[in-house]
Amino acid sequence: MAAKINPDWHPDTLAVRAGHERSPWGETAEALYLTSGFCYPDAETAEARFKGENEGFVYSRYGNPTIETFHQRMIALEPGAEACTATASGMSAVFGALASYLNTGDHVVASKALFGSCWQILANILPRWGINATLVDGGDLKAWEQAFQPNTRAVFLESPSNPLLTLVDIEAVSKLAHDNRADCLVVVDNVFATPLAQHPLTLGADVVVYSATKHIDGQGRVLGGAILGSEQHREEVLLPFLRHTGPSLSAFNAWLLVKGLETLSLRVDRSTASALHLAQVLESHPKVARVAYPWLESHPQHALAKKQMSHGSTLIAFEMAGGQQEAFDFMRRLSLIDVSNNLGDSKSLITHPGTTTHRAMDEDMRNELGINERLMRLSVGLEDARDLEADLLAALG
Ligand SMILES: *Cc1c(COP(=O)(O)O)cnc(C)c1O
Repeated sequence: MAAKINPDWHPDTLAVRAGHERSPWGETAEALYLTSGFCYPDAETAEARFKGENEGFVYSRYGNPTIETFHQRMIALEPGAEACTATASGMSAVFGALASYLNTGDHVVASKALFGSCWQILANILPRWGINATLVDGGDLKAWEQAFQPNTRAVFLESPSNPLLTLVDIEAVSKLAHDNRADCLVVVDNVFATPLAQHPLTLGADVVVYSATKHIDGQGRVLGGAILGSEQHREEVLLPFLRHTGPSLSAFNAWLLVKGLETLSLRVDRSTASALHLAQVLESHPKVARVAYPWLESHPQHALAKKQMSHGSTLIAFEMAGGQQEAFDFMRRLSLIDVSNNLGDSKSLITHPGTTTHRAMDEDMRNELGINERLMRLSVGLEDARDLEADLLAALG
């Protein structure tokens, strides 16, 4: 299915060209195949295609040409990936990657600094099927080592984490996991790093998951997700589960995500440069008590960030002195940056994680993670950094 790719092409070329197969009309843009089903010349062909003896599509829950273009483009941008499987949202990618692999009685070790819904899956949903998780301090390698059990069959981690941008040493944890048990599936949620800043599969992870809703769409339009790994993992583990449970990406959303990938590096580079500048501005402001940003030397895991990432993030976490009221008042005084819990958008967005994205988490766990009532998370968009700086400074007063 893949269109011709020159192995010498660089990522920015692949982001625009990979997976593009033109229809007989020769359209310049990728075609949008908004169709649920496909027709066959005769019943014999239909039978052959269902048997897998004839290449082609059968139904969009199983596959679709526009979704296939998205797959090929994602594979081209993710070093170490042989296969991609798109899903309807980032959460269906996270759940699908874990539920397709784990059986009753299996155990998961995960870093506890997790996006709220990832935490729900591990703490409340998988245990209903007898799959329990141990949550560890992701920065503590001893804690990881001690958490492994003979029945540990998966590791799940986010690095940098949402919202506090704490890191996990992906290479070291992948090694511990595989030394403990060769078939332990190491799954990395790479949303905050994007495919540009960090390549978990080259660091020893088995599977990378994305919420394509975030930087990959990047313009706040659609939900989507992706699971990347080996061809064998897709064929033997993912497809038998996902085809029948149905968290398929819509072809329309796949088309928007394909177009989003074309500008991913331009957008992420711009937002990351602005974020680094704004993190420095915030850090040097007397009213700001703490800034968490991996590319600042003050980040406790700055050395690890430099080792496993190629640049910082488009997100910044910070605290002002005071409590929730001071944070809410600050957010009210912003006139350019919007209050919204989405991230990775062209528009700069700010949220108060403790009362929104991480509200459903146990209070004890929030406190343990440092998601206190002062904490805010800023997703830096594409506006001029000078205007964003002026907005933050005016709201700080
Ligand atoms: C948003 C997000 C998700 C979930 O993605 P959806 O597309 O909203 O389902 C998972 N992990 C992280 C780190 C996220 O930021």
